[in-house]
Amino acid sequence: MHYGQTVILGLLLLLQGCLHVPGTSSLSNTTYTGPVIDMHLHALGAEDQGPPPLALCAGMTAGTAHDPHQPWGQAFLAQMKAPNCAHPIWSAMTDTELRDLSLAELERFNVTAVLSGTPARVADWKEQAPGRIIPGLGLNIARDPFTPEDIAQAFKDGNLKVLAEVTNQYSGIAPDDPRFDAFWQVAADLDIPVGIHIGVGPPGAAQLFSGYKAGLHSPLPLENILKRHPTLRVYIMHAAWPMRGELKAMLYAHPHLYVDTGILQMALTREEYYDFLEDLVRSGYGDRIMFGSDQMVWPGLIEEGINAINQAPFLTLQQRQDILYGNAARFLRLSNETNHKPQK
Ligand SMILES: [Zn+2]
Repeated sequence: MHYGQTVILGLLLLLQGCLHVPGTSSLSNTTYTGPVIDMHLHALGAEDQGPPPLALCAGMTAGTAHDPHQPWGQAFLAQMKAPNCAHPIWSAMTDTELRDLSLAELERFNVTAVLSGTPARVADWKEQAPGRIIPGLGLNIARDPFTPEDIAQAFKDGNLKVLAEVTNQYSGIAPDDPRFDAFWQVAADLDIPVGIHIGVGPPGAAQLFSGYKAGLHSPLPLENILKRHPTLRVYIMHAAWPMRGELKAMLYAHPHLYVDTGILQMALTREEYYDFLEDLVRSGYGDRIMFGSDQMVWPGLIEEGINAINQAPFLTLQQRQDILYGNAARFLRLSNETNHKPQK
């Protein structure tokens, strides 16, 4: 396609966007512009994913063919240093820049975010933007020193609202591993919503984390927990991609189970992300999908994630609002505070 054709096509698309034909469900030009809830934001340091700057390209599942003469970790880092795509998203350079750029993105898109991280860092971010942050606590029981009693005390003492992100999967610990039983019990006793990582890590995760296994993308082991604690609110972070059959069985059997879309906007090709999302929506689960950016050190992931929902051609405006706001507000039982009311 040469430049002249591009301009004409652009004008046609522009006209199409302006014209509303009554009786047609013109899905593609209905952008949701109300408040957003991000169920999956991290408060990290700028160097926590490797030496900055690092770039991500959308569609990380593509182009991962690898000759193991070189460790995958080195190859992946080299990709992030020299991204092979037209619109890479670059990481922040310093901790302060990462925090401030992330909070600026929340402000720009009217986002309130469940923030995962160490207590000190979450408190610092919340102090900078009190109205934008729902404080969470990140936890990997193989790595973090917290006992179940510590967690209970932290939630009783502080203003923590969500136990997320639970990242035990990186250490090979399944949701129903007995080592996590007492933590589930605390969450159930104190009515703490839990977000647990079930699904994608970085590409080649099994080569990067000794405990990581693709088999743990399955949401089925979570079922034992949901049956044991029927009042517990749990959401599957990363939506257990790509185990869509297993996920649909779980959503069907457990109507209080939710998922978030964290990192799917980057990890998957957009075709696969939309196919997966459309499959879930078409199956009737559009009221339990919650937007998550999984912003780590790349503040631009927030915009990319919101745009991906707004540009999904199969979603109605109502479905976009549900995913970007309404489902999370229901899951978190947010009161009708004015800042959480969707604008029509
Ligand atoms: Zn995760």
